[in-house]
Amino acid sequence: MTLDDLEPVEIEPKRWQCCHCGGTGSDSYGDTCPHCQGLGFC
Ligand SMILES: [Zn+2]
Ligand SMILES: [Zn+2]
Repeated sequence: MTLDDLEPVEIEPKRWQCCHCGGTGSDSYGDTCPHCQGLGFC
């Protein structure tokens, strides 16, 4: 058994999940997130 057999649990998306909206693309008011412009990533 080697450490190379262990695979990461989470597969990273193309970009980082937005730190402002948490990846939803909307802010707390339901508007488009100004940080990622609704993409959910930044
Ligand atoms: Zn962000
Ligand atoms: Zn965002």
